[in-house]
Amino acid sequence: MKNDCVFCAIEAGEIPSQKVYEDERMFVIKDIEPKAPVHYLAIPKRHYKLLRDMTDADRDDLGKIFATIPAVADRLGLQNGYRLIVNQGDDAGQTVFHLHIHILGGHAMDFPEL
Ligand code: 5GP
Ligand code: ZN
Repeated sequence: MKNDCVFCAIEAGEIPSQKVYEDERMFVIKDIEPKAPVHYLAIPKRHYKLLRDMTDADRDDLGKIFATIPAVADRLGLQNGYRLIVNQGDDAGQTVFHLHIHILGGHAMDFPEL
């Protein structure tokens, strides 16, 4: 847990969230400012700022997180498809520097959306 990290504080239960999934390595919460009709965040329990900060073992963890997302997406009613976004750094508009995967869906999306 990192001090002053909003997602670590959510994981610790210090900030409330709408949690729809949790296991030993990750949790999924509803985004507080949804950018699509369905917008959730898949968040590793371990604090990583960026992909570049992860070790090989951490990346195994991330692989398992990605493997879990389809079942979570089903639970969220996203059978017609969804988009995953992992913002990395300032140019991507990253605002929370605890690695997270956006799960967006609920309508058809153009690509790219820049
Ligand atoms: P980023 O821009 O870093 O890729 O995405 C951070 C996301 O976290 C944003 O979509 C923002 O709405 C969401 N967010 C920031 N603070 C909170 C919070 O306290 N609770 C929840 N549920 N989402 C948050
Ligand atoms: Zn954190």
